[in-house]
Amino acid sequence: MQITTLNDLFIHGLSDIYSAEKQLARALAKLAREASTPELVQAFKQHMEETQGQIERIDQLLEAESNLKLKRMKCHAMEGLVDEANEVIESTEKGSVRDAALIAAAQKVEHYEIASYGTLCTLADQLGYKKAKTLLAQTLEEEKTTDNLLTKIATSKINSKAEVE
Ligand code: FE
Ligand code: FE
Ligand code: FE
Repeated sequence: MQITTLNDLFIHGLSDIYSAEKQLARALAKLAREASTPELVQAFKQHMEETQGQIERIDQLLEAESNLKLKRMKCHAMEGLVDEANEVIESTEKGSVRDAALIAAAQKVEHYEIASYGTLCTLADQLGYKKAKTLLAQTLEEEKTTDNLLTKIATSKINSKAEVE
């Protein structure tokens, strides 16, 4: 899409993260299947549910702000991050080392989302989309919480188990 205004840039970012969330919802189902530590399986399943909610939150945002219309586009970064997660699944056996690798892959995804939603919150503020700002900030917090939870699961059990595997 042609981007000439800050509003265009906001719509571009919103359309990109919408695509990213849809790709991720599918990918998280696979991560949950491929993980073996129960806490990690649970974390992936929980974030899959949350991701569905985040997609709905964007739909809600579009209803609230009638002059925002999404563009059809694909988030290439998420496609690449999901490809890398799949590569690491192919190169590992089920177990702690794979779990550590899945956490690393998932945290790259969360950081991409944190960066994206951070920018979107700032732009929504600047452009005066109050309702959008509130909804985007809620999702940003969920992404940060997920990132922290993954760090906790890695450092509290998986990494030390993986070291001796
Ligand atoms: Fe998300
Ligand atoms: Fe993207
Ligand atoms: Fe996320």
